[in-house]
Amino acid sequence: MKKLEEYIRDVPDFPKKGIIFKDITTLLKDKEGLKRAVDELYKVVKNMEIDKVVGVESRGFIFSPILAYKLEAGFVPVRKPGKLPAEVISESYELEYGTDTLEIHKDAIEKGDRVLIVDDLIATGGTAKAVCKMVERLGGKIIALEFLIELTFLKGRDKLKEYNVFSIIRY
Ligand code: AMP
Repeated sequence: MKKLEEYIRDVPDFPKKGIIFKDITTLLKDKEGLKRAVDELYKVVKNMEIDKVVGVESRGFIFSPILAYKLEAGFVPVRKPGKLPAEVISESYELEYGTDTLEIHKDAIEKGDRVLIVDDLIATGGTAKAVCKMVERLGGKIIALEFLIELTFLKGRDKLKEYNVFSIIRY
């Protein structure tokens, strides 16, 4: 049987020189690849009694609602500035060059909600850390973070020591 990582395509120098982009579209378009990726992600978190799955724009929006549906939980989007229509809170984080900001609706999480944060990939962990901060500011309890892909050499986990971090494919 084909390994799950064999469905993922490496695209060198995208979006800029020196970055090897992990392209999951080759996994998503394959019925076996998509099913296996979702099954693997679900298996890890299925008994965690999750209330809300939080997904990050934009590739984080692919797996998080599928997992929310399977977990019988709600889905909460985290978006880039200016996209969410109602009242938001925001969090900025450092990039290699400059900073980025993410937003979440103020009423998206209720105090004590058991939250799972999902993204396609963890690199430096900066994105995930910003999402954790917003969820906690809203009173959510972070039960776990889950990623399809982890670039272990970037040590994103080190930023998330206080949380349960799971990944399916590690490079
Ligand atoms: P980070 O905040 O450094 O952990 O970056 C994580 C975010 O950037 C995720 O939402 C990924 O989709 C995206 N990302 C970072 N590096 C890559 C890469 N090599 N291939 C694909 N996506 C990436």
